[in-house]
Amino acid sequence: MGTHTEASEEVTILGAGIVGVCCALSLQEKGYSVTLIDRELPGEATSYGNAGVISPWSCVPQCMPGTLQQVPGWLLSSDGPVSIRWRDLPTTVPWALRFLANTRLPKVEDISRAMSALVCDNVDVYRRFLKGTGHENLLRDSWYVNVFRGKASPVLSDLAWRLRTDKGAPIEIVRDGEVRDIEPAISEDYHSAVIIKDQGRAAAPGRLCKVLADKAKAQGAKFVRAEVRGIEKAPHAGYLLVTPEGEIPARRLVLAAGIWSADLLKSLGVKVPLISERGYHLEFSDPGVALNHSVADVQGKFVVSSMEGGLRAAGTAEFAHHSAPPRYSRADMLGPQTKKLLPALNIEPNARWMGVRPSFPDNLPAIGELPGLPGLFAAFGHSHYGLGMAPATGRLVAGMVDGAVSNAEVSAYAPDRFG
Ligand SMILES: Cc1cc2nc3c(=O)[nH]c(=O)nc-3n(C[C@H](O)[C@H](O)[C@H](O)COP(=O)(O)OP(=O)(O)OC[C@H]3O[C@@H](n4cnc5c(N)ncnc54)[C@H](O)[C@@H]3O)c2cc1C
Repeated sequence: MGTHTEASEEVTILGAGIVGVCCALSLQEKGYSVTLIDRELPGEATSYGNAGVISPWSCVPQCMPGTLQQVPGWLLSSDGPVSIRWRDLPTTVPWALRFLANTRLPKVEDISRAMSALVCDNVDVYRRFLKGTGHENLLRDSWYVNVFRGKASPVLSDLAWRLRTDKGAPIEIVRDGEVRDIEPAISEDYHSAVIIKDQGRAAAPGRLCKVLADKAKAQGAKFVRAEVRGIEKAPHAGYLLVTPEGEIPARRLVLAAGIWSADLLKSLGVKVPLISERGYHLEFSDPGVALNHSVADVQGKFVVSSMEGGLRAAGTAEFAHHSAPPRYSRADMLGPQTKKLLPALNIEPNARWMGVRPSFPDNLPAIGELPGLPGLFAAFGHSHYGLGMAPATGRLVAGMVDGAVSNAEVSAYAPDRFG
């Protein structure tokens, strides 16, 4: 624990997903007392059902050159990786136009650098956070095995791989028998793979979050279970969190409420272009096969990994309002696709899950003090990479609360960068 001179100062964190919990641990390291507020127990929302990839090489945004040309094909295919709820088009189109403006090359390279800064030491930080909890094996050493259907063959000079190799990622191509030497369960219909080494994977992302929340509690964090309906400015300084049970005062507030952060900011008159990019998983509880690593089906855009609850296939992007009923056919379609990848897989019984990625048009999160709202720090919008970006987000937020990191140093993540 740190020896910060303002050690008695309290910081309130709204949201006990992986981002809020990592903020709590980093603030505690600096000597702050933290209170976590959530309507659920820690790690039950988006942080529960993700694919578990913790990669220091997650520096390739979704907004890549050529995305526009691929969209019609994705949307026309009923089991394609992207879908839209048509009635949400009025919010999706303006967001998509901003997204497409970020697919130009110089912009993509800037975004990639900003992503890299948020993931480069994530495995090491999780190891440090887990040390002494007795649950160190929740984080496993892993490679990222990116497999290609049929005869499709990867080219390492393609931008997506080059962005990673530029940052030192240990990448190689393997073919045919070598693919099955690494993952014997993969079908012979997959002839090549790009292997990225030196990564981690969570064996149960939700439990990882709970274990780290328990550590924060053991170190003195308070946990308040409450539904926050709005945020108001307090009469003199700080904020009031409005709940059905009354108001909770917060002198300093970290907003780490995932997709719901945008709704909460509306009560303070702040609008941010955060969209709900929903994803699904299908978890096979008696899979009959196991994987050693995180395996990505590159064309299908889903990731499969052996987890504590079975074998989990997670992915797909559905642009639909976060409160709309789940469309579980988006999860079910992962069954036959995963069976093609792993022919010996038992796809029954299985459990379906839907989660909401909070996504900005440049795929970067909002991290920083909100202009005109002193003491209110954004820590949300981590889209596809929140598990991997949470440790650095926590460190930056703690540095900002402490005054050691200024908003200018992290301008790529400025909450007001969209104007
Ligand atoms: C299918 C899928 C696969 C993914 N795979 C990966 C992966 O492999 N690697 C990776 O790095 N990322 C992955 N992600 C992304 C990652 O899961 C998210 O970016 C991350 O979980 C976001 O964490 P969070 O803490 O911001 O949000 P959440 O986990 O959603 O937490 C927000 C918390 O705020 C609370 N809250 C919200 N509003 C209120 C309120 N009004 N009052 C009280 N409490 C409130 C919620 O209850 C919740 O606990 C994936 C996402 C999906 C959907």
